[in-house]
Amino acid sequence: MSAEESGRVAVVTGASRGIGRGIALALAGEGHAVVVNYVRNEAAAQEVVDRITALGGRAVPVRGDVADPAQHPALVDRAYAEYGRLDLLVNNAGVAPAQRTDLLGAAPESFDHQIATNLRGPYFLTQYAARKMIEHDRDAAGAGSRAKIVVISSISATTASTDRGDYCLSKAGLAMMVKLYAARLAAHGINVYEIRPGIIATDMTGKVKEKYDRLIHEEGLTPITRWGTPDDVGRAVVAVATDLLPFSTGSVIDVDGGFHLRTL
Ligand code: NAP
Repeated sequence: MSAEESGRVAVVTGASRGIGRGIALALAGEGHAVVVNYVRNEAAAQEVVDRITALGGRAVPVRGDVADPAQHPALVDRAYAEYGRLDLLVNNAGVAPAQRTDLLGAAPESFDHQIATNLRGPYFLTQYAARKMIEHDRDAAGAGSRAKIVVISSISATTASTDRGDYCLSKAGLAMMVKLYAARLAAHGINVYEIRPGIIATDMTGKVKEKYDRLIHEEGLTPITRWGTPDDVGRAVVAVATDLLPFSTGSVIDVDGGFHLRTL
């Protein structure tokens, strides 16, 4: 399917690398035009855009720091300015703590940075995008399906890692954020989903690759014994984006190789 055939438009935060890149490419493959957000790595964002356009899709790179609500309007409004509509917001951008530090020695600076980027940013970006989706009245414009907001959380939303409590708290907060917005936005024709990845091969996990290699391949951490890929997460987003879950909202979709299962 080409971008023109679908006509749908997505904003993906942190789409220059890793999971966000995988989501952007998967959505473009299903005909979405994509606003490719990044914060520093312009060349990587441009590479994603070039790849999409080379395949006949539509995409535009947009710099913006999700941690700064003052930058949210420029990001969301670009979708309307460039493509005339917005069908899907994917809150993907997020950061790991600069250093893993035991709970008993953790510093407020890391906590504030984690919460600002991973939770406060998406909370207010979602607020802004939802207002715009409501204001633009997609039904009247003949959209033909509900709008969607996706939040990329983490298994850290429910798994205690005592050397990065701030990250875990930010992700647990996102899980509640999904429920809040799902309840608030259902009457406005907007579905909200939490996609909860497990261990995915990206720059973020590159620093701890050996540890996770051992846990996955030697110690049975995940029933499906492999690393996840950005495309695994991209496919889950595509399922939501292409209306395969129309009667679900506030739901958690695990993309973790079965990590969340408890076995005996
Ligand atoms: P990554 O490889 O480090 O990529 C991070 C992306 O986010 C980059 O595109 C980066 O842009 C962007 N970004 C960072 N801070 C930003 C900000 N303040 N504003 C806008 N964009 C920003 O990370 P990843 O592994 O793909 O993770 C993506 C999301 O999945 C995160 O929320 C992470 O917590 C979550 N997650 C990851 C895993 C995993 O195993 N990798 C598992 C569960 C959940 P630049 O290129 O410009 O720096």
